[in-house]
Amino acid sequence: MIFRTLILLMVAVAAHGQDTPTVTTTPIKDGLYLLQGRGGNVMASTGSDGVLLVDDDYPQYQPAYLEAVQALGYDGVRFIINTHWHGDHAGGNAAWGESGSVILAHDNVRQRLSTRQDMKLFKRVVEPAPRSAWPLVTYEDSLALHVNGETVEVKHYPQGHTDGDSMVFFVRSNVVHAGDHFFKDSFPFVDMDSGGSVGGFVENIAVLLQTVDDETVIVPGHGGLANRADLERYHQMLVETRDAVQTMQAQGMDLEAIQAVGLDARWESWGSGFIDTDRWISFIVTSPR
Ligand SMILES: [Zn+2]
Repeated sequence: MIFRTLILLMVAVAAHGQDTPTVTTTPIKDGLYLLQGRGGNVMASTGSDGVLLVDDDYPQYQPAYLEAVQALGYDGVRFIINTHWHGDHAGGNAAWGESGSVILAHDNVRQRLSTRQDMKLFKRVVEPAPRSAWPLVTYEDSLALHVNGETVEVKHYPQGHTDGDSMVFFVRSNVVHAGDHFFKDSFPFVDMDSGGSVGGFVENIAVLLQTVDDETVIVPGHGGLANRADLERYHQMLVETRDAVQTMQAQGMDLEAIQAVGLDARWESWGSGFIDTDRWISFIVTSPR
């Protein structure tokens, strides 16, 4: 019995050791930082108006983000913008909301966080988040904040990754957080259970490509800091793989047949992340047009 308890204790310690949430801080420019824990990329704007975060990772990482913010010389976070409702991007909301941060997001983020979500793809039901996690400020199309010496433009990109995604533009600094519309060098997740679509996704990336220039720093939802060339390569992948799959569909091939043929070898490494090649093909085949 004692032996068994000891084993369980060792397992618990080992699991804890692996899971101890830590956050790394990377300066971008002008008081802007990339903060990374385990989930989606988090951005911080710091200055005389305090701290604004874009996204807040998983719930269990919130204390580590508070430590990271404190290490930058601030007591807490004044504003949080959620790029979308997923738990790896908005999971910290409840704790931050309770501590007085004002959370802002698209109307559909509040709608989804406050109701039960059925993620059929992963056979997972997500219960409503506690009230403190719900955005206090919502918008239908766009919103501007004027903090830390610059305009922060928040813009809705419809029916792409979900139906409630925003991208956040730091205008003077020429930095954008693109949320999960951008997985750097990986096939993206299109959450059709949350109103996403492949067509909207590709269109949204085309719009973003028009919006950025060669100097823009692009923070992807997942992966390292990126630039316009990275986004161009990504857009090219989206268009070429979508067209290839839709051409096979038009020839009467079903999902399995298309997966058996696969995609051009050039895109092989893009399937080594969260979304593999078969799943990316299945998104294209099953997406509403
Ligand atoms: Zn997401």
